[in-house]
Amino acid sequence: MIIAITCVIAIVVLVFVLGVRPKDLPEPEPVSPFLHLDERKAAIYENLRDLQFEYRVGKLSDNDYQLTKKDLQKELAAVLAEVDKVRLTLQAGRPTAAPAAKVKTPAPPVSDNYTCPHCSATFEKELKFCGECGKPMKAVRA
Ligand SMILES: [Zn+2]
Repeated sequence: MIIAITCVIAIVVLVFVLGVRPKDLPEPEPVSPFLHLDERKAAIYENLRDLQFEYRVGKLSDNDYQLTKKDLQKELAAVLAEVDKVRLTLQAGRPTAAPAAKVKTPAPPVSDNYTCPHCSATFEKELKFCGECGKPMKAVRA
């Protein structure tokens, strides 16, 4: 009975760990600021299209068309500038935040392992004899 319960707990923990990890990894959160700006941009483009259509159909005077178009283009420029600003702040924030976590984990174990006890030369893989001084390196590991 106790063994059965232990097994169930172990399985639950395993499923929990395996189930949580893939979800946590790929989604940081940077979608939202652009989404909001993209919507504004799309709205302005649509207004420009409507404006052009109305002008072509003859609903608008030349003057009105030029004025409204200028306003919309100014608004569009402001939105595009904001998009650039958001992108820059995101890029500025990223290098310190995301890749640092990735780099840290695999780094430590490599360098110290295969060091020659005689001359202190280090090697990436295990050697029978030191590539620097030619003395046997096995002694250090036994
Ligand atoms: Zn050596």
